[in-house]
Amino acid sequence: MEVIMAQTAGFCFGVDRAITKAYDQTKNENVYTFGPIIHNNQVVDDLAAHGIKVINSIEELQKVPKGTVIMRSHGVEKVIYDKIKESGFEIIDATCPYVKRIHKLVEEHSNKGEKIVIIGDYKHPEVVGIMGWSSTQPIVIKEFEEALALEFDQNEKVCIVSQTTFNYNKFKDLVEILRKKEYDIYVFNTICDATEKRQFEAAEIAKNVDAMIVIGSEQSSNTQKLYEICKEECANTYYIQTLVDLDEETLRSFGKVGITAGASTPNKIIEEVQRLCQR
Ligand code: SF4
Repeated sequence: MEVIMAQTAGFCFGVDRAITKAYDQTKNENVYTFGPIIHNNQVVDDLAAHGIKVINSIEELQKVPKGTVIMRSHGVEKVIYDKIKESGFEIIDATCPYVKRIHKLVEEHSNKGEKIVIIGDYKHPEVVGIMGWSSTQPIVIKEFEEALALEFDQNEKVCIVSQTTFNYNKFKDLVEILRKKEYDIYVFNTICDATEKRQFEAAEIAKNVDAMIVIGSEQSSNTQKLYEICKEECANTYYIQTLVDLDEETLRSFGKVGITAGASTPNKIIEEVQRLCQR
């Protein structure tokens, strides 16, 4: 079987940076991450085995011995930083610099009184974090109907940012809808380069193979999007979390298979899948 491996599969810069920061702390005591450091259970479990526990709320933090809190790669609300500091914990900020840039844009523009529109999934932790840096009430949209229904006063200024993992073409289309309404808008394409490149490469590979494998955690939104993009190009697209989810018999019926993986998928898992396909 011919195997085409995506060059962009696996840890992106932000995830790699966050994990390195976390593993640097394994020799120290009382180290916590605020929320899972990245969206991958295998990594989170391994860090727990090294003594780094996940804390999910400020209430939980009040009950553990004082120490260090590592902020997760996809960021948290401003109020969480303030409360952690007030509680006497040290903070190590592993927020991806690309997400941090959105926090700064939202803070700066909302402080000038602008309306903030975030294009993304309002339930995703990254978006929840971004919302928490706005001093005006932020609006989150992800569907065309929502963009069409949006209305502002003509004298209001609007600042538009995006979740880093949002689909680039859809972002452009949604912005176009808002532009046509002729509001005074500032648009910041804050979709991460790594995501765009990964999505583009995955689509190109999926067009030219008999089957496509997308590897990543269930909680990873960029993996889910990769799956959707590949499925559009290749009907035989399979989403797996680890090797055990792969149906080897079905796989063997294809002559040419492509592999890609989300930004928080460890290399070890990708290599295992690649090895099995090449056997
Ligand atoms: S996908 Fe991009 S924004 Fe998200 S953590 Fe990776 S480098 Fe940062």
